[in-house]
Amino acid sequence: MSELGKKQINRRDMIAGAGLATAAAVIPAAAAQAGESKKAHWDHETDVICVGSGAAAGTAAVTAVSHGAKVMLLEKMPITGGTTGKSGGVAWICNHFVFREQGIDDKKADAMAYMCHYSYPQRFDPNSPTLGLEEADYKLIEAFYDNGYKAIDHLQEIDAVKWKQFRLFFVDEPAPDYADHLPENKTPTGRALEPSVGSGSSEGGNSFAAQLAEWLEKKNVPILTDTRVTQLVMENGRVIGVEAESEGKTVRIKANKAVIFGTGGYAHNTHLIGLHQTALYGACAMPGSTGDFISIAGAVGAQMGSLDTAWRTQVVLEEALQNRAIGLGAFVLPGDSMILVNKYGKRVVNEKRCYNDRTRAHFVYDPSRDEYPNQLMFMLFDERSLDRFGGAFPFPADKAASEWLVSGESWDALFANVAKRLAAIESKTGGVRLAEDFSAATKDSIAQYNGYAKAGKDPDFERGARLYDVQWHKLFSAVREGSAFGANPYPNLTMHPLADKGPYYAFILAAGALDTNGGPRINHHGQVLSTGGEPIPGLYGAGNCIASPSRNAYYGAGGTIGLALTYGYIAANHAVGEIA
Ligand SMILES: Cc1cc2nc3c(=O)[nH]c(=O)nc-3n(C[C@H](O)[C@H](O)[C@H](O)COP(=O)(O)OP(=O)(O)OC[C@H]3O[C@@H](n4cnc5c(N)ncnc54)[C@H](O)[C@@H]3O)c2cc1C
Repeated sequence: MSELGKKQINRRDMIAGAGLATAAAVIPAAAAQAGESKKAHWDHETDVICVGSGAAAGTAAVTAVSHGAKVMLLEKMPITGGTTGKSGGVAWICNHFVFREQGIDDKKADAMAYMCHYSYPQRFDPNSPTLGLEEADYKLIEAFYDNGYKAIDHLQEIDAVKWKQFRLFFVDEPAPDYADHLPENKTPTGRALEPSVGSGSSEGGNSFAAQLAEWLEKKNVPILTDTRVTQLVMENGRVIGVEAESEGKTVRIKANKAVIFGTGGYAHNTHLIGLHQTALYGACAMPGSTGDFISIAGAVGAQMGSLDTAWRTQVVLEEALQNRAIGLGAFVLPGDSMILVNKYGKRVVNEKRCYNDRTRAHFVYDPSRDEYPNQLMFMLFDERSLDRFGGAFPFPADKAASEWLVSGESWDALFANVAKRLAAIESKTGGVRLAEDFSAATKDSIAQYNGYAKAGKDPDFERGARLYDVQWHKLFSAVREGSAFGANPYPNLTMHPLADKGPYYAFILAAGALDTNGGPRINHHGQVLSTGGEPIPGLYGAGNCIASPSRNAYYGAGGTIGLALTYGYIAANHAVGEIA
């Protein structure tokens, strides 16, 4: 976080005169009930309250202020930025300014077909006016197409955030989408943008969040950190304000136009994870992602959706079991002499498939055995991959330093050590063990893979056949300086035979997430819907705290922030009456 990003206007500064409405006596928490208006005292009054401080709430706040609204931003953590501040900051946006400058026509019909197909493969119908989707779901995706580039243009025009096209390092080409291969995807590369300050590393998200905060500070917008919104205040069915806990006190803030939530997912709420997710062992979201909006909006009758979805990634299981708030997911698995197998020693997925989709392979259920055979996967590799790509997570730069790396001088020694590790964590996994014939089956899988690697073709999972596989492999399998191993001489860059001799290595991988992305349902204006399907007046949501318009799909790099900032923009415009 930059110095400016860190510098918050705290509650004391605010009361001392940061341009707020009359500060009145604080009402005791017990006096306030969700769904009920207290005409008594408000501590502050504004037009729009934005809750959270990441891509969604930050963009909403900036947009509302740019249209002349009075705004307050409330953040429950001591620093602003949320998971956005930790992220790469990349935003996936259709038809953006770089395309338009370059004369690339990212046509609405094609982009809609790509997104609708990827989000709803079970419903997609190219001949239907809504491409086979429920009208409301179609409109959510349509509003994303129609407003994403406008949001980016607006942030640039008002000098809040500058963007540039995200190019993959090492190849210096526009990044391919996560399903670049779908036939409807006519602009399969280049939709990802990144903040022009910082890069697609963690600096990018830091820079994005800090630029939003800096712009708001310049406009004297009160930003209250350590201020957790706990409930909504209603009057005649309309949201007219919030109650928040701040410095041990309850604060009531009136919102004359709207309350816009951008409070992140629930990846760190183990109760909700237990209720809604098959398995989610760990997440790299910031600790503020506890799903507060689900109970807050639920208390005023919001309809919930997609509570079982997430922006998924595999995680190193033993790391996540130590602390489920992990630093990084195993996003793009590094290495070429590397495969994944399940407890039966079978490859079950293209190891180079994007993190969101690859992780979903963990949830296949076997009704004959009454189990999830892929609940855990074993990432197997040799000295070549570890040495050549060491330092590319989860490969350690120094193998002695990784407590989760399992090793063995031979395959059987490695498998015995994996079995020991599994026994040690059996109470956390439902007792997953390697199948009796794991060794023989895995050796068969390795022999088969080695043949595929030499031929350059993976007929089972088409590893390396798509642009995504190759370009993201290059990005995440950076060659370690001083590696003793040479370049891959085989025809498919992503595949190299595993060595005939050990040592060999493994990680135990399991399903995790960047964050979840289900919650209250919204319409295409960003308004939260009631259980009856009508908008709840005055209440909006964007980003990971709402049921994601993309459902299970992660369209490309920046797929989460693109949606979050666009719906923050849409919600703010609608709330202040600026948009159709
Ligand atoms: C390492 C990493 C890299 C990533 N890289 C990318 C990337 O490059 N591109 C991309 O699209 N996605 C990326 N992601 C995912 C992305 O960061 C998130 O999906 C996105 O930032 C979520 O934005 P948001 O505005 O919805 O929520 P957040 O940024 O999480 O903000 C929510 C905020 O709300 C606050 N909050 C919660 N409850 C309350 C409450 N009751 N009262 C007040 N405040 C509250 C939280 O403390 C938090 O600050 C990455 C994630 C990680 C971990």
